[in-house]
Amino acid sequence: MDKPAAATRAIHHGESFAAETGTVMPPIYATSTFAHGNPGGFDYTRSGNPNFSILEGVLASVEDCAHATVFGSGVSAITAIASTLHQGDLVLCEENLYGCTVRLFEQVFAKFGVRTEWVDFTKSASLASIHKHKPAMVWLESPTNPLLKVIDLEAVCNAARSSKVPVVVDNTFATALVQRPLKLGATLSLTSTTKYINGHSDALGGAVSTDDSSWHQKMVFAQKALGLMPSPFDCWLITRGIKTLPLRLKQQIANAAVVADHLGCHPAVSWVRYPGRHDHPQQAVALKQMKGGGAIVTIGLDANREQAYAFCKALRWFTMAESLGGVESLICHPATMTHAAVSADVKESLGISDGLVRLSLGCEDIADLLADLDHALTLLP
Ligand SMILES: *Cc1c(COP(=O)(O)O)cnc(C)c1O
Repeated sequence: MDKPAAATRAIHHGESFAAETGTVMPPIYATSTFAHGNPGGFDYTRSGNPNFSILEGVLASVEDCAHATVFGSGVSAITAIASTLHQGDLVLCEENLYGCTVRLFEQVFAKFGVRTEWVDFTKSASLASIHKHKPAMVWLESPTNPLLKVIDLEAVCNAARSSKVPVVVDNTFATALVQRPLKLGATLSLTSTTKYINGHSDALGGAVSTDDSSWHQKMVFAQKALGLMPSPFDCWLITRGIKTLPLRLKQQIANAAVVADHLGCHPAVSWVRYPGRHDHPQQAVALKQMKGGGAIVTIGLDANREQAYAFCKALRWFTMAESLGGVESLICHPATMTHAAVSADVKESLGISDGLVRLSLGCEDIADLLADLDHALTLLP
């Protein structure tokens, strides 16, 4: 039979647990330890559990790669990769990485002598800095948060390969259904499964995918040696969540595209940033490497900090909250939330103005979302 499509694999992969009872859904293996010599080779849940294996199998199948390793959160997955570095190693990072990744490098791994350089990977001159710096690792994220910068992953991976430098891509904003970092040449593809993969905002998780078995061994080692494993229950929830990922994402991406175009024509909105739009600065790269523009839209309101905050609070269907990727729409005002502690000049250099808001589109009916946004926009002075 032909290989089934990703939407089918997301639902049916990993049914091997069902042989004895015919159960259609996997049980939760709530156990810390396993009898020695069992056929599955399990010994202790810090280093493996059937619920981890089921989720790892589905994730690898959906990403169409050899291995996936699950962790307790996206930050645990980042920690697992960073823990493979040595004192004195340099990580060449995209300058717009997720805030917790920056904090981990600057406030934790820096103490152990891991160095970082930050460059803008949308500039082709940054490719030369790979040859110049000879880093131990290149760390990318695309699209970035919150300005949705799109990096040409294939171009960076090609440059890194010629210097034999492994590349990590944080693929959380896109997911493997929208973008395949490993197929574009990355060594490791990292995802916070807390977001789109689980999709219901009721569990935290992370995963690292790779086709390289020595890197897979390093991830399995980090899972148990650093205690970065998830709980069986969270894996079970995320395994349930991923079954509807293709369906949810289709609706979320469609909603995002309509919202981006609608707000792009609204007089109270100064600018719209969405990778699927003609006016996105890297639209050509987005078209080349992404299937659709994703489901995050960032806009600039003609408003000061208080007015932008009031706009977010006035929405009925968008909850003002951090995180993204769930079935429910969320809105984030970085100036008072995710980037509140960042100094004014850093915020300015990142392009985070007081009027900037980030929308994570959910699966609600598009007419309700548009009416909600239009109403809140009328409240702006
Ligand atoms: C949320 C997020 C993370 C961290 O994931 P957690 O599951 O919250 O630890 C990492 N990278 C990106 C891009 C994220 O959005």
